[in-house]
Amino acid sequence: MARVNLDGNSIPMLAICMIGGGGFIGSHLCEKLMAETNHKAVVVDVSSEKINHLLDRSLPWAHRIEFHQMNIKSDSRLETLVQTTDLTINLAAIYTPADYNTRPLDTIFGNFIDAIPVIKYCTENNKRLIHFSTCEVYGKTIGSFLPEEYRQDPKYFMLKEDVTPCIFGPVEKQRWSYACAKQMTDRLIYAEHAENGLKFTIVRPYNWIGPRMDFIPGVDGPSDGVPRVLACFSNSLLRGEPLKLVDGGRSQRTFLYIKDAIDAVALMIDNPERANGYIFNVGNPDNEVSVKELAELMIKAYAKVSGAPASSLSTVDVSAEDFYGKGYDDSDRRIPDMTIITKQLAWKPKTLLEELLDVTLQYQHKTYSRAIERELSKPSN
Ligand code: NAD
Ligand code: UDP
Repeated sequence: MARVNLDGNSIPMLAICMIGGGGFIGSHLCEKLMAETNHKAVVVDVSSEKINHLLDRSLPWAHRIEFHQMNIKSDSRLETLVQTTDLTINLAAIYTPADYNTRPLDTIFGNFIDAIPVIKYCTENNKRLIHFSTCEVYGKTIGSFLPEEYRQDPKYFMLKEDVTPCIFGPVEKQRWSYACAKQMTDRLIYAEHAENGLKFTIVRPYNWIGPRMDFIPGVDGPSDGVPRVLACFSNSLLRGEPLKLVDGGRSQRTFLYIKDAIDAVALMIDNPERANGYIFNVGNPDNEVSVKELAELMIKAYAKVSGAPASSLSTVDVSAEDFYGKGYDDSDRRIPDMTIITKQLAWKPKTLLEELLDVTLQYQHKTYSRAIERELSKPSN
């Protein structure tokens, strides 16, 4: 039966150029596109590791997915791929906070300079662009500068796409190089839309988490690498080490299950009339916790999954400078206002934090615990 969109119109088959489609979000989007739609995915990435399970030529969708190993910094084939597809989704980024202050040049090039040709090819060839920005473009909340009693008013912490100002720390705090580069890319896309008619949608993810996010240091990533918080805490749980709370884990985040998030992206793909020209917050305001509370929930969930007593799992406070090095700074709180996405796409997140942590930690345990056991049982020199 033909699929129809939110306005009851049948959905045409699209060829989608998915840049950075071999990463965490891209892998889940490819799974959805292959299993539930007839769209074709033309995936561009430096690595296919997270989508290899979808690329086997014996799979029923083999004719609808292709992988192009390519670094977009230096590959002239990209323009042809944008020209010969209907829609470009740009997910490519340098995207781990530990890199923002220690690799600021890579961060600025990876999140701004390298996006410029992609935007240019879409504008020149009249192709639609769905670009991945970040909730981090809002920076710190207004509330974080106010006395405690004012902070409770939602207007000082709720982040709205078309109202909230972007507040970054000084240039010396290189943490903000990522947010600033992402914001410049958003502004360039918006300017191309205003002056040259680019058809765009900008997505602002709020801590999307789930299986295949980042890497476990020493197993499928460098042993001195620092991934995002879900993988950092998973790594400590798998090794039976204390979970490190940066500056006591005071910062607050809202976490969204990757499968819910991908439903929102699929609605954007299939409803261009409702999504073009919009910036969408995509998060789950009901899943807000402090990082300390996240650690406690993950300890509880992992004890259930692994059988280890929760009392054997603990946390430890560390300073931001010890953990991330000089130039780190933090967003205090990120709650998405959901008015625009609810009105345009009738999308709502479904999965509560406890449930998504259960599923994710089952995956982490199943995928990594053997490798870590083997590593820990090796005699140390
Ligand atoms: P990810 O790191 O897993 O995926 C990014 C992919 O881009 C990687 O596979 C990487 O190899 C690829 N890439 C980077 N530079 C490239 C280049 N020069 N050429 C080719 N490929 C390149 O990250 P993700 O979590 O899937 O995030 C995807 C996008 O969403 C990013 O733009 C990120 O900034 C944004 N985002 C994600 C979240 C989240 O919660 N996961 C939050 C905010 C923003
Ligand atoms: N964090 C932490 N311990 C860790 C890793 C991260 O306390 O092992 C904190 C980090 O300082 C931030 C929050 O967790 O306040 C979320 O960090 P993440 O790397 O996931 O990215 P962010 O949400 O800041 O983009």
